[in-house]
Amino acid sequence: AEEARKRAYFASADEVPDDLPDSFTKMNLSRQVMKGLSKLGFSQPTPIQAKTIPVGLLGKDVCGGAQTGSGKTAAFLVPILERLLYRPKNAAVTRVLILCPTRELAIQCHNVGSKLAGFTDITLCLCVGGLPLKPQEAELRQRPDVVIATPGRLIDHLRNSQAFGLDTIEILVMDEADRMLEDGFEDELTEIIKSCPQKRQTMLFSATMTDNVDKLVRLSLHKPVRVQIDPPKS
Ligand code: ADP
Ligand code: MG
Repeated sequence: AEEARKRAYFASADEVPDDLPDSFTKMNLSRQVMKGLSKLGFSQPTPIQAKTIPVGLLGKDVCGGAQTGSGKTAAFLVPILERLLYRPKNAAVTRVLILCPTRELAIQCHNVGSKLAGFTDITLCLCVGGLPLKPQEAELRQRPDVVIATPGRLIDHLRNSQAFGLDTIEILVMDEADRMLEDGFEDELTEIIKSCPQKRQTMLFSATMTDNVDKLVRLSLHKPVRVQIDPPKS
């Protein structure tokens, strides 16, 4: 049964770990993040979380294929928070950038992140359209640890003000990459990726792997571990 379960989770993954963590406890997470998970009511990892969190904790690049509703948000947020806790900063710098295709998805990600980080001093900032630019700019000037943004609004900040740059980014996440490309953000994504330091960890998630997503993978990821979670057979 254990073998079958592993095969089901990792059918098309490049690296199948010997031990699939079937609980958050087995992932050696911090007490703070464990409290955040229980605040969210997450007692067991979903398949994408079981596979992605250990890889993310190692600082490796991740190329994840998983459908909506599979639990991708915590899959990338848990290793991000752990790495921020593990390597404390000595200056106020923004270290993580999370890109989402829409304002709604960015808001959802920010909500999960705020709960998950609720027992840490990690700061998160939401950078999306539909909110006035100036207060957002002021928030970015404070150098929040994590910026969760839509590509269009982030580009507005990068181009039109000196308030914010990406030169201190250590981890870049592209969530729902296929949708960001469908929505015509290819140029924005390219500009953002090129503005981040080359030495960084990048995690890219996409429900589908189109040619354009593949182009983005080759542009942004370095020796990624591929994580594929197939939708349950109906
Ligand atoms: P995705 O980004 O892949 O579409 P989400 O991260 O938005 O998925 O999660 C989908 C739903 O599953 C959300 O309602 C979330 O609260 C819930 N969820 C995620 N991880 C877990 C977990 N480990 N245990 C229980 N519920 C979870
Ligand atoms: Mg999502």
